[in-house]
Amino acid sequence: MDKIAIVTGASRGIGAETAKLFARHGYALCINYKQNSIAAEAVKEEIIRLGAPCIVVQADVAVASDVQNLFATVDREFGTVTVLVNNAAILKSQCRMDAISDARFTEVLQTNVLSCFLCAKEAVKRMSTKYGGRGGCIINVSSLASKTGSPNEYVDYAASKGAVDSMTRGLALEVAAEGIRVNAVRPGLIYTDMHASGGEPGRVDRLKTKIPMQRGGTAHEVAEAIYWLASEQSSFVTGSFIDTAGGL
Ligand code: NAP
Repeated sequence: MDKIAIVTGASRGIGAETAKLFARHGYALCINYKQNSIAAEAVKEEIIRLGAPCIVVQADVAVASDVQNLFATVDREFGTVTVLVNNAAILKSQCRMDAISDARFTEVLQTNVLSCFLCAKEAVKRMSTKYGGRGGCIINVSSLASKTGSPNEYVDYAASKGAVDSMTRGLALEVAAEGIRVNAVRPGLIYTDMHASGGEPGRVDRLKTKIPMQRGGTAHEVAEAIYWLASEQSSFVTGSFIDTAGGL
């Protein structure tokens, strides 16, 4: 197969919409999730209905052995991955930074940052022309929080996305001459279940008047930016960021 995408955290939200969009564009899809197998299988069913090959692989992308198994499964089932979307991430309850425990800080950083490093390492080993690969694209899902710092909400989450931005830039330059483009999207306030994890399911509606476009975004609007960064239409773009944030 020529077009093979791995989307981490694709059992719901932006990851699920991204996987479905890639399927519509002729990709074979690997749907990764950590906990919710029922949701992941439902996304797979939709993708199969769209006519695209699809597998579901459970893996905690913050754990190296899980990530190695994820990529080995794709090698076996489809062949060499051509697009990696580092999408999986978590956020915790809203609070000030001085109330964030060391354990929470470690979990957020491992899930949101180490995961991107582990997955990107496996992807580079397969995609890089330096290792005999055919090239590929890595798209990191960062957040506008990397610029705002998310005061009084989740500075740990914002800092994790700052690390993702730095990694995007650094890795892009390392592998630019090896056939791999590395870019990121920075969503703003998007309607997904993630805000419930922070303790405020209605957060987007509460804050939408502060968005210049006066509305929250959809997961599909973010998926379209991710897809563009993986497509030939962005063939001279690397180390770059698309803010999908309605002007914030
Ligand atoms: P979401 O609805 O909370 O979905 C998160 C997904 O990640 C789920 O599929 C979850 O799967 C998976 N996941 C969590 N931890 C994982 C792990 N350790 N290993 C593998 N999968 C894991 O989130 P979302 O809103 O779609 O966000 C997607 C991305 O966009 C994230 O990087 C987020 O930071 C970013 N973003 C979102 C917003 C927004 O407003 N929603 C704004 C800025 C940036 P299980 O449930 O099966 O564990």
